[in-house]
Amino acid sequence: MSKRLISQSILKRMQDYIEGEECGLKIKAQYVDGVVFPPSDAQLLGQWFEYECTGALPPYDSERIPEPIRLKNGNLSKAYERMSYQVANYKALLKHYDVKIKSIGEEIEYGDARGTTDIIAEVDGQIAIIDLKASGLIRDKWNPLGWEDIANSYKPKMKVLTQAIHYKYIAKNLFQTDDVPFYFWIFSTTNEKDNRIIKVEVDEDEYTLHERVLTDAKKYLEETLERGFKAKPSMLRCRNCPLAHSCKEKTEFAEVEKVYYTSQL
Ligand code: SF4
Repeated sequence: MSKRLISQSILKRMQDYIEGEECGLKIKAQYVDGVVFPPSDAQLLGQWFEYECTGALPPYDSERIPEPIRLKNGNLSKAYERMSYQVANYKALLKHYDVKIKSIGEEIEYGDARGTTDIIAEVDGQIAIIDLKASGLIRDKWNPLGWEDIANSYKPKMKVLTQAIHYKYIAKNLFQTDDVPFYFWIFSTTNEKDNRIIKVEVDEDEYTLHERVLTDAKKYLEETLERGFKAKPSMLRCRNCPLAHSCKEKTEFAEVEKVYYTSQL
């Protein structure tokens, strides 16, 4: 098998692909051919926020220094002004919790897994990982990417939790320690007064499970690379796809959705 390493983002995208929620041609372009997709407005805002907090440059586009959107009079636009308050909140939290930053944007690897940490820091005398998020879903319970109720035992939000499990798994093995605390620091993009710190604790058994997930994902990725990724066109996906201008598989029309009805139980 190749030395292709599995990041938490490819893990989540492959999961979406298996479930038919993502187009294989997009995954291949981004993760295999190295195509850099233009960031959305929300991503640009998040990248600027992170740059202002830590000095980190955008992933996959490290030549570009994030710039804010300004009004004609030179002031920051409302969204960026809100996040400039959140930068101040971030700095105040660092002070309040006496967080001592050790590194920014450090690559960590163990076995088949890799990841890029936002912040490695000393927190309460322990080396910990902090991941910064700018989110409009900070109190959202129902959205799979919402930050409320993320570890619900019936329906855990794996789109969110996978990153914490993945990074804790790598770090505990890499640093040869029982546990490396992992924190999400989440800053609202809609309310400058709202932010949260969520420390994710992971049951020991989950690491064994994660190891299996990584092995399966790597095998599946290698097989899919050999077989070829399949297109999964849909009207909305294709309308928002940066590859649409040259893609032969794209669709511009709503697909027929079947619903089955019977009154017989
Ligand atoms: S245009 Fe549609 S089919 Fe083509 S790569 Fe994009 S999402 Fe896939």
